Amino acid sequence: MNYSEWLSQWDNLCRARDVMIDGKQGIVLRHDIDSFTDRVKRVANIEEAHGVRSSWYVIVDPSYRYYERQKKVFKELESRGHEIGLHVNSVELSHAPRWKGRSKENAVLQLGKDIAKIKKDFDVVTMCAHGIDWPYTNKDLLRDFDSEIIAFNRFFDDRDCIFTDSRGWMSTAQKKEGYIVMHPQTLDKRLRFPNKRRTIESLSDKELKRLV
Ligand SMILES: [Zn+2]
Repeated sequence: MNYSEWLSQWDNLCRARDVMIDGKQGIVLRHDIDSFTDRVKRVANIEEAHGVRSSWYVIVDPSYRYYERQKKVFKELESRGHEIGLHVNSVELSHAPRWKGRSKENAVLQLGKDIAKIKKDFDVVTMCAHGIDWPYTNKDLLRDFDSEIIAFNRFFDDRDCIFTDSRGWMSTAQKKEGYIVMHPQTLDKRLRFPNKRRTIESLSDKELKRLV
């Protein structure tokens, strides 16, 4: 199934800010950009053809090497009605290089800097954690950090409402509330999903919670 076909199955997709800030009922379509991808505009164009605007989360850490390079593209998306948010990787960044200066306090300081940096470029009101398994994770950091920028795992915590293409799975279920996490860099050149797909009905609650 390609992205356009998959998208046509949904009629209530929206941006995170619509649900988390404005209280709209809908399913958030969230894109985590974990590395450079040339598929951003193509994905956005298809969404717009379906009348959808989505939320794009970007990592400002220079070692991921795409923020400055793709800033123009994200600016254009924002001007077309998409939402740009922070994909939080402050724990890793605060400990570079090689885990020097490792502490929760440093991670909190780093997140403050990352928020200030992205707010200079975009109208950011939501953020979500990049999922790397460190002893103290980005999700832990977001639980500890008070900000006017709302974090996904604080807003949606404890709800079984995540659909994702992580590990090659993508749900096509439509009846639940919640959000979808999609990684455009995992789509193949023809914008098809990876082959190993399972539906939401075949996942246990435990698996759902592990996915992002
Ligand atoms: Zn990520």
